[in-house]
Amino acid sequence: MSPVPKVFDYIVIGGGSGGLASARRAASYGAKVALIEASGRLGGTCVNVGCVPKKVMFNTAAIRAAVHDAKHYGFDVDYKGFNMKHLKTERDSYIKRLNGIYSRNLKNDNVFHFSGYGSFVSSTKVKVSGVPVIHPDETAICEDQVLEAPKILVAVGGKPIIPGIPGAEHGITSDGFFDLDHIPKRTAVVGSGYIGVELAGVLSELGSEVTLSTRTNTVLRHHDEIIGTTLMDDMKRIGIKFATNSKVTSLEKNSDGSLKLSWTEGSNPVPISQEFDCVIWAIGREPSVKGLNYETVGLKLNKTNHIIADEYQYTGVDGIFALGDVYGISELTPVAIAAGRKLSDRLFGGPQFANSKLDYETIPTVIFGSLPAGTCGLTEAQAVERFGRENLKIYQTKFSNMYNAMLPYKPQTAMKLVCTLPDEKVVGLHIIGRGSDEMLQGFGVAMKMGATKKDFDSCVAIHPTSSEELVTLR
Ligand SMILES: Cc1cc2nc3c(=O)[nH]c(=O)nc-3n(C[C@H](O)[C@H](O)[C@H](O)COP(=O)(O)OP(=O)(O)OC[C@H]3O[C@@H](n4cnc5c(N)ncnc54)[C@H](O)[C@@H]3O)c2cc1C
Repeated sequence: MSPVPKVFDYIVIGGGSGGLASARRAASYGAKVALIEASGRLGGTCVNVGCVPKKVMFNTAAIRAAVHDAKHYGFDVDYKGFNMKHLKTERDSYIKRLNGIYSRNLKNDNVFHFSGYGSFVSSTKVKVSGVPVIHPDETAICEDQVLEAPKILVAVGGKPIIPGIPGAEHGITSDGFFDLDHIPKRTAVVGSGYIGVELAGVLSELGSEVTLSTRTNTVLRHHDEIIGTTLMDDMKRIGIKFATNSKVTSLEKNSDGSLKLSWTEGSNPVPISQEFDCVIWAIGREPSVKGLNYETVGLKLNKTNHIIADEYQYTGVDGIFALGDVYGISELTPVAIAAGRKLSDRLFGGPQFANSKLDYETIPTVIFGSLPAGTCGLTEAQAVERFGRENLKIYQTKFSNMYNAMLPYKPQTAMKLVCTLPDEKVVGLHIIGRGSDEMLQGFGVAMKMGATKKDFDSCVAIHPTSSEELVTLR
């Protein structure tokens, strides 16, 4: 058994999307890399309590909806219920397989994986607490130890925020959502960002009576208005109730185990209370900087506690970089991965990568709500602010997808192009409705290439699809 090294070229704190990508890319250039992960499982938020299990749940809800639709297409389908325990077991074992693949990938790439909590000792030293070393000799050394490297990446991600109200501990977060082995009869989801609307949509489709509490009168308020209004209408169509302009004030646990959630609405100070079986806090996420000892090395945080870094992910402290959710710009898995790879290209890839950095503009993203939605570039409101209303042309449409022709209910599809004058460059694209999730990526490429409305129109439509509407907008 060879001794476990303590000195590396690169230490990565955090084995999630960004950390894994950066560590492996650095190792591919021959760098000696240590990766520290605290949770005991690799893959980070995305794999364990984010994108991956969420997409499984979205697929489950979509299958439920399809079963419902099937009879209108002439199928003799008898829905006899849904076994959440079975699904959870299968979903968990899928994730476990992914954890194993990540571990093997590190091993194959000669990255030293330290399972423990990383905290700064100095700008070149990181203490790992509670360690077994996993690679390359499958050794296990269970003492705290200090690793050293001239370059260190902080990719520790974030965690859900729990509100500071009495009884908040009786609620769960998106992390706890993935522990559910049954569908609660009555659920309150507090928060109307993408995580809130996604969980609400899934739970409602799978039979829970869902109430969504939103601080404003809409959902997804950071997205283009066409997405929020269309999604909210659809959420109402599938039976979700809304407590709009609401502010939660307390949560109590009743003797029968049910929960009493109280909130105020608008300017009325008198709280409204309602009983639920499950309350989910989806009010945002915060960076996982606690315990990192970042102050010791002089890392600076902004007012949302994200680590301040420049466009090259450089924190201003010699040799220390930060990216992904802890950096806080476009908190998405592919963003963390791309930023991690670009950084390692620049640090270890040689002179041809001297300027390698991620372009954070025009990043496409999807919301897996009761209607999937996709968005890329500026919202109409952002474009007005940046260019002025007089320098914009907006194209939009709303229609019912042909899939609904056989159905008595008509979920909507809505699309918007935000174009700058005079050449009508497409600077914002917003779509919601069946298939939007798979539709967006290609249009994202076109936008990245600087496509104009004329370019869109020059592409012959594919018929009959929803996406054809995007190249025939008038
Ligand atoms: C419910 C949900 C759904 C989501 N859905 C999507 C989606 O559909 N598409 C999408 O693109 N993104 C989605 N995201 C966001 C995505 O998961 C994150 O943007 C992404 O995981 C960020 O990657 P990261 O590397 O910055 O952090 P993470 O993936 O969170 O990884 C950070 C890792 O660092 C570890 N860590 C923390 N502190 C320490 C320490 N001191 N020492 C050692 N290790 C430490 C953590 O345990 C964690 O494993 C979703 C998130 C949530 C919560």
